[in-house]
Amino acid sequence: MLGDRFGELNEEIAACRRCPRLVTFREGVVPKKCFQETYWKKPVAGFGDTEASILLLGLAPAPHGGNRTGRIFTGDQSARFLMKALFNTGLSNQNHSEHADDGLELRGVYVTASVKCVPPQNRPSALETKNCSAFLQREFLLLKRLKVVLALGRHAFEAYLSLAAKRGELKSAAFSHGAFIPFKSLPLLIGSYHPSPQNTNRGLLTTRMLEEVLERAKRESGWEQFKNK
Ligand code: SF4
Repeated sequence: MLGDRFGELNEEIAACRRCPRLVTFREGVVPKKCFQETYWKKPVAGFGDTEASILLLGLAPAPHGGNRTGRIFTGDQSARFLMKALFNTGLSNQNHSEHADDGLELRGVYVTASVKCVPPQNRPSALETKNCSAFLQREFLLLKRLKVVLALGRHAFEAYLSLAAKRGELKSAAFSHGAFIPFKSLPLLIGSYHPSPQNTNRGLLTTRMLEEVLERAKRESGWEQFKNK
């Protein structure tokens, strides 16, 4: 069963301690007083529709978002921005993502990060990214209907190019919002600015811009047919 295989992978991810610096950092995050719950403080696996045609690939969990709630793109400003756009484009059943049990369902979309542990200053090292790419590769192998990878930010964009190179499709491509990189036998890559407050507060990424790349991902992936199956 596909669900079991994702379950096994996600349990393995949650138990991983391969990168000592990231283990120390994720476990040492000091909880904010405004949050009552115990922080997750473990690696954060992907979530969503295992029959997805679109993968949203982020950088890593946020200290008080995924590292708190245990679900990627949940409980912080980036999640609020992203979920509003997903809902507006028909890719989710609700426009918010606050807790792991809040009822959020993604439609034809799976969301994950290229590095599953929160890194200091949002900057994983090259070795940490390489270590975690083994999990990302396994997610790709399980997402059998995938047609489009929408990379949220430069790091995710480059992580996918690196993964493609390992699978024999070497490409050099510059990251930009709207970058469109087709491959011979792999899901195509679309670039987007990351929905972090650093980008959204200064208007580098607007809701409309994000919705436009999501609509493009829908068209390119044949999402309309996929979602009805
Ligand atoms: S970043 Fe990835 S490989 Fe490193 S400890 Fe976290 S889950 Fe393991």
